[in-house]
Amino acid sequence: MKRVLVANRGEIAVRIIRALRESGYESVAVFSEPDRLSPHVRTADRAVPIGPAAPAESYLNIARLLDAARDTGADAIHPGYGFLAERPDFARAVTDAGFIWIGPPAAAISAMGNKTEARRLMQKASVPVVPGTVEPLESEAELSSVAGEIGFPLMLKAVAGGGGKGMRLVRSTSELGSAFTQARSEALKAFGDDSVYVEKYIERPRHVEIQVIADACGNVFHMGERECSVQRRHQKLIEECPSPAIDEKLRREMGTAAVQAARSVGYVGAGTVEFLLDRSGEFYFLEMNTRIQVEHPVTELVYGVDLVRDQLTAACGEPLPESYAALQPRGHSIECRIVAEDPYDGFLPQTGRLEHLEIPCGPGIRWDGAIERGMEIGLSYDPLLAKLIVWAEDRDRAIARMNRALDELLIVGVPTSVPLARAAMQEESFRAGRYDIGYLDTHPELLEEPLSDAELTDLAIAAALSVEACKAVPRAAGSHGRAPVPSRWLTQARRDGLR
Ligand code: ADP
Repeated sequence: MKRVLVANRGEIAVRIIRALRESGYESVAVFSEPDRLSPHVRTADRAVPIGPAAPAESYLNIARLLDAARDTGADAIHPGYGFLAERPDFARAVTDAGFIWIGPPAAAISAMGNKTEARRLMQKASVPVVPGTVEPLESEAELSSVAGEIGFPLMLKAVAGGGGKGMRLVRSTSELGSAFTQARSEALKAFGDDSVYVEKYIERPRHVEIQVIADACGNVFHMGERECSVQRRHQKLIEECPSPAIDEKLRREMGTAAVQAARSVGYVGAGTVEFLLDRSGEFYFLEMNTRIQVEHPVTELVYGVDLVRDQLTAACGEPLPESYAALQPRGHSIECRIVAEDPYDGFLPQTGRLEHLEIPCGPGIRWDGAIERGMEIGLSYDPLLAKLIVWAEDRDRAIARMNRALDELLIVGVPTSVPLARAAMQEESFRAGRYDIGYLDTHPELLEEPLSDAELTDLAIAAALSVEACKAVPRAAGSHGRAPVPSRWLTQARRDGLR
């Protein structure tokens, strides 16, 4: 392997290109028309246009990607996450065309991509799964009978599900019929497959996942857990390692279950086995993500590893370091996802031009991003702009460091999740490590605009006066324990001619 094509964009493409460069491989980026000037394009050794903005015609276009790899003499393909990363047909097309696939075997992706098949396999491998069906539901009558057995509340889920889509919570018999119809049509729309199955709804569990890494020589290791319970729409926002809810014994048990899960499908490469941990300390298999995960940096910082480099090692058929059998967590790491969504407006995706950007740095801070000043943020792709990650000796210090980093961070022009991250870092139960997947539902105050209209107007006018003021005002606001100026107010102020 000499030259690797990265079939992705944004922060993960940059992350992979960095690992390639450090490991002595050449990198090839691909880009859609609007991404022509994006950081991942400039970071790579070479870059190839693959089509217009629409993902179906660019980042999801298998034929174009393979052509780009051939044309640039690449000998391997890394899919990143999202897009084609969990499509077994892509993995197969890559290897059939003679390239090295930097990911697990297509059969393992297939087995884990189908949620009912994965549940069946896990049961066989003695990994505890959430109680429910292991076959798609044939009819509403079957659903009623299963509901009678497992009881309410329950959750209908798309067999082909992902990204928090196609899930429906059902609390009583009267809701069953309509929930079944809706879940099926949602599943059909999102995944082109209307099969759904049913699971017991676990009340206010924590989402705890185990990182696994396997080589082609038969070694499968785990690298502890990540706590991912701060979520909106069943999607993660803040992650940490280790989990405040896990002790060494539970880590060992979950780690062993995750390794069993990986072994049972002949896994090779980096993967994540997701579990729900209920309030009595029981854990249940949720799904396995057969790719590098967005939140992988918190594991890297606490375990002192480079998971993307490990993916390259595994893809080349080389053994992972023997020392991985004795890895121990050290210190604490937290990641805040910076998404272009407005937490004060139902997390609606936001667009705009990044007028100003200041990225935090200094001790213990890692910024995995691919954004820069002047960039247009549109709606064609995922709203994830960057990830702000910190490491410190313990959890309290990691929170203090994240607070400091969030104070230094300045994004003007597009509303983001930053004010929410700041509020969570200061909120009592998060600080105490006492939270579950219902965190934002049970803390609605975090989703309320923290400043009065009058204060916001003052700040917006001040900030709109000059870029200098843009820099100074949010920091001054921060020092009073307030959130930074929501940038939509700046936009508004400008629109109103206050500038
Ligand atoms: P997806 O593949 O769409 O991401 P997952 O099965 O991984 O879906 O679940 C995503 C999130 O949805 C979980 O982290 C959790 O918050 C919630 N969830 C899923 N299944 C259940 C369940 N049976 N009980 C309670 N919450 C659930």
